[in-house]
Amino acid sequence: MTANSKYGINPRLISVITNRDLSDIPDSPTASMLPGSYGRIIAEKVNQGPREHPENIQRLVCNRCGRSGNYDLGLVAIDSDKAQKLGHDDSVPAGTETLSILDCIQATGYFRCRQCNAAGHWKLSESAERAIYLGGIGAAFFSPKDISKQKFTYGGFVLADGSRHRWATDVEEYYLQKLAGQPDDAFTWNRLGNTYLAGGRPDLAAVAYEQSLIIDPAQMESHYSLAKALFNAGEKAAAAQHFRQALICAHRYSRMQAERMRDMLVSTFEYLLQIHCDMEKFLASLPTELDMLPPGEAAYASGTVVSREINIYPGNPKSFYPMAEMYMGKRREELLTGSQMPGESISAISQTAGKTSSRPGGNRKKKSGKKNKKRKL
Ligand SMILES: [Zn+2]
Repeated sequence: MTANSKYGINPRLISVITNRDLSDIPDSPTASMLPGSYGRIIAEKVNQGPREHPENIQRLVCNRCGRSGNYDLGLVAIDSDKAQKLGHDDSVPAGTETLSILDCIQATGYFRCRQCNAAGHWKLSESAERAIYLGGIGAAFFSPKDISKQKFTYGGFVLADGSRHRWATDVEEYYLQKLAGQPDDAFTWNRLGNTYLAGGRPDLAAVAYEQSLIIDPAQMESHYSLAKALFNAGEKAAAAQHFRQALICAHRYSRMQAERMRDMLVSTFEYLLQIHCDMEKFLASLPTELDMLPPGEAAYASGTVVSREINIYPGNPKSFYPMAEMYMGKRREELLTGSQMPGESISAISQTAGKTSSRPGGNRKKKSGKKNKKRKL
């Protein structure tokens, strides 16, 4: 159990989703009040599964209630420009507000005061200031080769609209304010989910992703990320359903750069392979052309899925590229680097009405013994 064993929930999250007045929601809601199907289930297993960032416990003091506690800050980004101005107060005219260490940092961890459920009103303890100072020195010497293993880094977190926020709860508040005015913005619900996930709160992430999918059932990124959160919580059947939906929605999804979409699809295949444990079962689980048609559209109207001979090798993500590109439909034309290997060719564009058996990659032939290798969980 981590030091941050009691998890806070923002009453505004429940208010915006349920359309109930904030005054009707308790100041410190419990997990049983989370809307949707999965948030409550995942809340019991928040610490299960891999972390986005290593645990980074620091002692903070809540400015609202004055109580101190240990909280997991996640990855702390230090603004080097601001940090350089620390300790150079001689040039600052008298009366000018000087910078503190707190002014120089942003953190990914999602946490609220365990006593009063306030968020974002923190003072760093002396030990936390020292840890950040030393962490900054460490980050300056070690290049950030793998950001997922670091506790401190130089730089900053900027949202797509250019805004910057210190704490994950500030980002949450920013998105919730936006969503209160435009609750049908499935993309912003997805981004809110990502903030929770990066903050170590897959339970809240699931709530936001589910809301995103209620508004837009074709929100591919929400299907994928919700599936990942479910997989890590051991909910494999539900995870498989949403991974499958991510494959189905990809060719119609435009809010993502093509290369990133291909990587997400490869990751989807890898998770599905783990869930099904067996190559044949995995292949049989993949969506067919008919699954990918919008409701009411006849099969002959679509040529979006291309079948061709491919070999896939578990453990070699690039071998999944051709299959991922099949699910991208026309979006594969945006890829700067195609996966097509010498000797590999598109064998058929299936446009036959009612051809249910022609799943993408339906012409796969067993060319290699490695292909049927089972993946252990
Ligand atoms: Zn407090």
